[in-house]
Parts: sequence; C-alpha cells; structure tokens
Amino acid sequence: MSKRQAKKLFGLIGRNVDYSWSPLIHNTGFETLGLPCFYTIFNIATPELVGDALRGCRALGISGFNVTIPYKKTVVPLLDELSSEADAIQAVNTIVNENGRLIGHNTDIAGFAAPLMPWADRIHGKRVCIFGNGGAALAAVEAFRIHFRPSSVLLFVRELHKADDMLAGYEHRNLVTPCLTADLDLPLGGQQLQECSVIVNATPIGTSGRGDAIRSIVPAGRDLFHKGQIVYDMVYNPIETPLLAEARSAGASTVSGIEMLIAQAARSFFIWTGRELPVDAVRKAVLDEIGQIAGPGSGLK
Ligand code: NAP
Repeated sequence: MSKRQAKKLFGLIGRNVDYSWSPLIHNTGFETLGLPCFYTIFNIATPELVGDALRGCRALGISGFNVTIPYKKTVVPLLDELSSEADAIQAVNTIVNENGRLIGHNTDIAGFAAPLMPWADRIHGKRVCIFGNGGAALAAVEAFRIHFRPSSVLLFVRELHKADDMLAGYEHRNLVTPCLTADLDLPLGGQQLQECSVIVNATPIGTSGRGDAIRSIVPAGRDLFHKGQIVYDMVYNPIETPLLAEARSAGASTVSGIEMLIAQAARSFFIWTGRELPVDAVRKAVLDEIGQIAGPGSGLK
C-alpha cells in the first residue's frame, strides 16, 4: 500500500485509554486485509468535549469510532440514529459515520453472546448470574435476554441502589433480581450461585496490574463451582484470571474475556468495512502482546 494513499481514519473515544488493545486489533485487521484504514486513540478529558469531538468527526470525515469508559452513554443523545441494541440499553460502543450522519451501535451485546452460543441449550430456561452494575453488566443482561432466554438473571452488586441505577429505563428489568455480593458469605447466597448455569464477572476484579489482581470476585475456597457450569470473566488480561482458574479446577467450563474482546471488535470492524475481521491473525497478535500461551480451559479456541 502506497504511503501517499489517503487512509480512512477510525478511533477509540474514551478517557485515559492509552492501554487499550483496540488499535492493535483493528490495525492488525486492516493490515492483514490490505485495507487503507488506520485506527488510533482519542482521549477526551471531559464529557463536555464529547460533542465537539463528534462535530469534528463530521467535519473531518472520520469514518468511525469505538466508545468506551466513561462515554458510552454520553454519546447517545449526540448521535443521529441508534441501532435497536444500543437503544435498548442506551449505550453505544461503536459509531459509524455515514456521510455525516452518525449511527450508534452496541457490539458488546452480540460480542458477549458469541462465545456462549455453543452452550445455548444449557442456558435456556435456567438461572444465570452477573457480578457488576456497570455498562458491561447491562450489555450482558440484554445479551442473555435476546440470545439465551434464561429464567432469571441474578445481579450481584455491592449496594442495591446501584442495581436500580443500572436498570433505570431498561424495559426488561423484571428479568433481573438484584442480590448483594456480601450475601455470598451466607449459605443461601452460596447456594444461589451454585444453582446458576452461567456466572459472569463484569467487574475489573482480577485485572493484571490492579491491587486486587490476585483476587476473585467469588469468595475463594467455598466450592461454589461445579462441572456443568460456565464461568465467564470479562477481564481479558490475564487470560486465566483467579476466578477462571478456580472454576476450571472445579470442572466448570470457562470463557476468557479475550473472546468477547475479539467478538465485539469483529462486529465493529464489519459495520465499518463490510469485511470479516481476520480473527486468527488478530488473536495471535493479542496473545503475543499479552505474552501468554493460551492454556487449556482458557476459553480460547
Ligand atoms: P464500569 O462501568 O466501571 O463498572 C465496573 C463495575 O465493577 C461496577 O459495577 C463496580 O461496582 C464493579 N466493581 C468495581 N470494583 C469492585 C470491587 N472491588 N468489588 C465488586 N465490584 C466492583 O465498567 P464496565 O464498562 O461495566 O466494565 C466492567 C469490566 O468489564 C471492566 O474490567 C472492563 O474492562 C470489562 N469489559 C470487558 C470487555 C471485553 O470485551 N472483554 C467489554 C466490556 C467491558 P461499584 O459501582 O460498586 O464500584
């Protein structure tokens, strides 16, 4: 590809997101397919500046964005149109610029669901649980609702009012039963968890480099996991978090957050380019970056 060739520009809107792997994922995709496109990071210091950024996008013809913490909701009223998924949870992680009209999508929902598809029969009609009350937790609730129809979703949070905040305006909130993480120390709380077909961590607990990286969101040593369960950690670095390690040793099936990371990116990539993300090349690039070899039960295929 000629260095003089004009390139379509894509980027990530967020705050303090220099650590993101999205440039690696999308630029690997563009280079592998020989597309004249480039992806970079736009750190925006305050919510007030997000509108300016989107006006700049229209003026400059920037082709699209991903959106991450803390602006997934901030962008919603500033866009020209929303996909049904983005509208359902009032959160956008992907924007495409269609001739100056900015359309918001949410690929976290389908990206979360993708690695669970082989187990759909195990989830349908059963109870599942999610830890967390942020945007990722709500995307997981909606993904379960659309793709797997569980009987109910237990939402484990540190304070019940945060579950109410998360579910405010969500049309299907009846599907969700808020629970306190502190109750997991009680026999009934533990039993509730044991009865879930899927357990999802949608908090940052276990992320490499954090003070609590060695901790699991589920109290350790309580034998709360068993064979037949699926334990899904949205954290993608390390690939095997303390939560997944304990679940795997108890015989549960595990899913690493790297699967969601790649699956949501693949959907953004398709929206922007109409092309399939070359997933094998991307997975290799991400694994090289993490510097880890995927172990058995990491969720990597
Ligand atoms: P967020 O809006 O900041 O929400 C974080 C959630 O974690 C909140 O519910 C928070 O609860 C909870 N939390 C934080 N520290 C906790 C602790 N010590 N104990 C219990 N709960 C705690 O973030 P988000 O956008 O929802 O993302 C959540 C996680 O998922 C992040 O690690 C993110 O990187 C990951 N994620 C991964 C993917 C992927 O593709 N793999 C996609 C999206 C998100 P409080 O309100 O009580 O603090």
